[in-house]
Amino acid sequence: MKKGFIKKLIANQYTVVDDITKTEVICQARGKFRYMKVDEDSAFNKQLTKRTKLDTKFIQVSPKVGDNVYYDDKEDQVFITEILPRKNDLVRPDVANVDQVLLVFSAVNPDFSFHLLDMFLIIMNQEHLTPVLVISKIDLIDLETLNQLKEDLKYYEKIGYNVYYVNSKQRIGIDVLTNIFKHKITVLAGQTGVGKSTLLNALMPELRLKTQEISKALGRGKHTTRHTELYNYNEGYIVDTPGFSKIEFKIFYEENLKLYYKDFEKYQEDCKFKNKCNHVHEPGCAVKKAYEDGEILASRYELYVDFFNQIKDQKSKY
Ligand code: ZN
Repeated sequence: MKKGFIKKLIANQYTVVDDITKTEVICQARGKFRYMKVDEDSAFNKQLTKRTKLDTKFIQVSPKVGDNVYYDDKEDQVFITEILPRKNDLVRPDVANVDQVLLVFSAVNPDFSFHLLDMFLIIMNQEHLTPVLVISKIDLIDLETLNQLKEDLKYYEKIGYNVYYVNSKQRIGIDVLTNIFKHKITVLAGQTGVGKSTLLNALMPELRLKTQEISKALGRGKHTTRHTELYNYNEGYIVDTPGFSKIEFKIFYEENLKLYYKDFEKYQEDCKFKNKCNHVHEPGCAVKKAYEDGEILASRYELYVDFFNQIKDQKSKY
């Protein structure tokens, strides 16, 4: 049995890169589904109920791009025989084992939004994804506003996120950014109009041509064939996503929101009600105090309270 990595899926044909020889092998998946072992922490496991968790050690899934697989090339046709456990699993794009998501925000036009940033970070935390923040169009904003933005974003750097500033047209900040792709699967994401394609073009001009060729081959934008592909870039892989106009997180219980704010955790043990504290109205809340003392970025805490109330309001409508 040989081991490899799925780089591309077009129709039902998988392109697998062999782990040892690094050659590309065209594989099929026998039947519709393959079995995959589910480990304790996998995203799948969370979707299972307590009962099925006990019964199920293996569940049925189709192989997808990003999967590490075993394949068998003894017969004429090469078949994928087993999928290794996934560390995460995205639907759009349909890719598993993503190492990082490059979140592109523009400094202006559309204006930078902490609301959007914090929503994204919640989703990233929920999906076990590591975000990298890229602020684009820094040349289109006055220096004072840019410096204020940088000052506020220092809070996010302090709590462990990497932030990059770029002007894609003049290739400012691009060379530094190219270093983050090595040995990683990176997904590019961003709101419509933030300059994601300009950034992608600055990073890898040849990709645009490739994607255009594919659209042409598939017939004037009619994407009837299932097609996902990772592109080699700086010893890693990159995959683009269409720009979106709206995002939302799905949290049904407001008390779960705090689970996605890692920066609140270190204060929580000093809250009077410890992990029972939701950091909103509770007396003796250390998170709220940290906000009042300016240790937690004001917008960060205030948006948290907004989100908390939104989830609560939604619930009362059911
Ligand atoms: Zn608290």
